Amino acid sequence: MNYSPRFRLFPTTEQREAMDWQRNTVRQLYNHALNEFDQIPEDAGTLRQRVWMVRDTLPALKGWWTDLKLVYSTVLQKAVERIRDNIQNLGKLKAKGYDVGSLNWKKPREYRSFTYRQSGFELDKKSGPNGRGLLILKKLKGETREIPIRIHRDLPDHEKVKEVTLKKEPTGAWYVSFCIETETPEKPAVEAIGSDDAVGLDLGVLNFAHDSDGRSIGRLDLSNDRERLEREQRSLSRKDYESNNWERQRRRVAEIHARMSNKKRDFKHKLAHFYTTEYDAVFVEDLNVKGMLESPQNARNKAEVGWRDFITILEHHGEKNGCHVVQVNPRGTTTECASCGVSTGKPLWVREHSCPSCGFELDRDWNAALNVLSRGLDKLGVVHSEDTPVETATAVSTDGGDSSSIVVDASRVTETGSPVLKEAASAAE
Ligand SMILES: [Zn+2]
Repeated sequence: MNYSPRFRLFPTTEQREAMDWQRNTVRQLYNHALNEFDQIPEDAGTLRQRVWMVRDTLPALKGWWTDLKLVYSTVLQKAVERIRDNIQNLGKLKAKGYDVGSLNWKKPREYRSFTYRQSGFELDKKSGPNGRGLLILKKLKGETREIPIRIHRDLPDHEKVKEVTLKKEPTGAWYVSFCIETETPEKPAVEAIGSDDAVGLDLGVLNFAHDSDGRSIGRLDLSNDRERLEREQRSLSRKDYESNNWERQRRRVAEIHARMSNKKRDFKHKLAHFYTTEYDAVFVEDLNVKGMLESPQNARNKAEVGWRDFITILEHHGEKNGCHVVQVNPRGTTTECASCGVSTGKPLWVREHSCPSCGFELDRDWNAALNVLSRGLDKLGVVHSEDTPVETATAVSTDGGDSSSIVVDASRVTETGSPVLKEAASAAE
């Protein structure tokens, strides 16, 4: 599997200019190549073959387009190959029913990165100023090609890096990501998984999630950022379009956007890391089946974007940490009784599950999470007795004295990296 750790770069002004020049040259090459590609008839070959035809014209192109000689060869090749990636992505969107046209030329603001393949770069892990490492790029225009890099985690070994992508964010900050192929750890055999080693997650609207072990994970509080964003956006709309003031304000808005999405991503990664390292199997609802059952569509749509994103991240961490991640049918998880299976409809404001048939009482979302857990165990093929999930729930509730969930604030997840049950419980006392 591939993963791509990302690091912040601290280029000098000269390096910044050189990287911008390279980014712009590569963008022009992309646009040129797209034009060439469009003139090749579709029956001339597969998508891959047609893109390769354009790529093969690069040596001849350098004959008259001398700027291209100043750019490392694999960077040029990757730029042309991007046409193929973009067409494939367009195809995926079309398949999902989006109305998409053909590929367009990229304006400077739309083309933010360039990529080195395997060679053309060096990594120096220690010798930079202020304890920073150095990323040394071949053929970057200018004299100094050693770009300081912040080592907030271990830099990868050079021989493991497949690709290096440099990207300028809309805030103006430059980042580098290293695409690394790693061996996938084996997932535990289904026979070896006990029901204690598995967890069900109910993705909620009021809270982010509730799990079958009784943790209720709150939503990230971004209200301050949101208020500030609105203020800065209002200010942006009052500036003259593309003036210096407008550009400065545009960056400010972009910085808030970046900060908010970083916070959200960090939260989801930490949560996914916790669940896939703490358990052998994690079960979530299949959002493609889940209908608009419970809440006003707006709130639900908004939450759903976050969940889909979280499930993708969860699956990625599952591969990385050797943990099964299984999506289950979500129909009726909230109405069904986790103890006896009888369905009882309840509106959203009823927060307690109280079964008229067997008398089982539990927090509504916890009950749903237990249903997700037992469906997941069934789907994965883990042998378990029917009443196991509920026994787990009652075991926790006797310890805690009542059947209320352990509420974990989202900030706890981002600060400590996990919603640990015991610490959260003692903090709540
Ligand atoms: Zn019941």
